Amino acid sequence: MQRHIMATPGEVLDDLDSFLDRISGGEEEEEEEYDDARLLVGEACHECRVDGSPAMAALQAGHVGCLREILRANEEERIAGVRSGNGATLAHVAARRGDVEVLGMLLAKTSSLARIGDVRGATPLHVCAYRGHEDCLEKLLEAGGDADQPDSDGATAIHFAAASGHLESVKTLVQKGGGNANAKNSSGETPVYFAAQEGHLVCIQWLVETAGADPQLASTDGMTPLHAAAQTGRLNVTYWLVRYAHCPISCRASDGATPVHFAAAKGQSTNSPKICCSN
Ligand SMILES: [Zn+2]
Repeated sequence: MQRHIMATPGEVLDDLDSFLDRISGGEEEEEEEYDDARLLVGEACHECRVDGSPAMAALQAGHVGCLREILRANEEERIAGVRSGNGATLAHVAARRGDVEVLGMLLAKTSSLARIGDVRGATPLHVCAYRGHEDCLEKLLEAGGDADQPDSDGATAIHFAAASGHLESVKTLVQKGGGNANAKNSSGETPVYFAAQEGHLVCIQWLVETAGADPQLASTDGMTPLHAAAQTGRLNVTYWLVRYAHCPISCRASDGATPVHFAAAKGQSTNSPKICCSN
């Protein structure tokens, strides 16, 4: 049990940060090169033509008319084929910006953009879920985006919405996208697990009470959402999982650690009767 008890919340959060950062999330990525230099430019303005990267120039300058010209002048496949070094498409860029108008134009031209992943398998849906752009999520779902499409770690957009605490995005993906509230990533972690680790109680409550998520599903190493909440010191989540979701405080991870061990390691055990009395 040493590994979990020794892990500090900071270490856990670092893991999640790297998990979140994996999805085309860095602001600096806007500076990344996109191979759109060979797109036909139609009647796009001088500024977008001379840039040498016309679609990106139009996107970044907010020249919707120029982008419309570029979309009109090129075949679907050519638009879908524009990628950055990490595999992000023009739809990833629009998703990151939360630009629903541009995203809608791109999807109207090439709906397959809703499902194309970057080098890590993250789709524009993952990006919008992480950032909480519900209107963009709806556009992507209408265009055929799949709420259950996993990235290379098996995480769906619902994992990202839950991990970043965007309740409306979680709702959109489950209710309008038909996404699985109990989806497991390749480590067996669910959206509830990530929300517990990050302390997003309202997301957990909605997933469990309305979407029927099972709050006791364990990861491949036997860690439950309650373990994650206790380990990261999320007292309100810990309390709710025990008191209202009836999660057992004595369940053991594969290394033997129980939520009580984590609470004790966080200094909560002796002065936190809430954790110790209910189960
Ligand atoms: Zn322009």
